[in-house]
Amino acid sequence: MAETITATDRFHRDSRVIFFSGAGISAESGISTFRDPEGHWSKYDPMKLASQAGFLEDPDLVLNWYADRRRAINQAQPNAAHRSISDFQKLFRDSVVITQNVDGLHERAGNRNILELHGNIHRHKCNSCGKNFESPDIEMRTLNHCECGGKIRPDVVWFGESLPLQTLQNAFEAAQNCDLMFTIGTSTQIYPAAQLPFEAKSRGAFVIEINPEPTPFSAQADISVRDDAGSALPKFYEEFYAQIK
Ligand SMILES: [Zn+2]
Repeated sequence: MAETITATDRFHRDSRVIFFSGAGISAESGISTFRDPEGHWSKYDPMKLASQAGFLEDPDLVLNWYADRRRAINQAQPNAAHRSISDFQKLFRDSVVITQNVDGLHERAGNRNILELHGNIHRHKCNSCGKNFESPDIEMRTLNHCECGGKIRPDVVWFGESLPLQTLQNAFEAAQNCDLMFTIGTSTQIYPAAQLPFEAKSRGAFVIEINPEPTPFSAQADISVRDDAGSALPKFYEEFYAQIK
């Protein structure tokens, strides 16, 4: 990765850095995308498992799918890419993780300043008033109700729903003001999140893309690496560590 040597001398400990992650980094921990049900769930339409209409039609079915996903996630472990982000966050004083994943693996790996654009599968909220709930029932396989009468559901963004506004605003503000962005394991196709690397690039940030496949952003990236995040990110960390002390 000789080309990064010239890149890293632009940066210092106070550079503002963003780690923007997508499903690819979770896949490396063995977690399938929530838009792509596995096992016996594969016979169900993801639109029903992850939508308002599906939840209202059969809440227990949807809650069971999420409980199974939480169980799989709890058995998975953060990988080398998640750990590498923690290393980077010690190197750079001002850094933010913006993730499209709902599994909480960034947090488990010790990453900090995390903006979760699509929510978090370990949290719940009222479908009517939005009140947050600490697991009223650890497994949450059957329907519980809020005191307002609303149905309690996973606090994740479903098909057809808007991203949490404040989180999205914070993410765009960070992207517009960063010096360096890593876009990691994201196809850069699902908007509005996909706009973030373009936003960072248009404001002059240096953007490094790591993804096994090319994406609509690849041609604009300053560096675009076709690799797994768990392989590429630790190598970038070593290069930056060597330059920034
Ligand atoms: Zn409520």
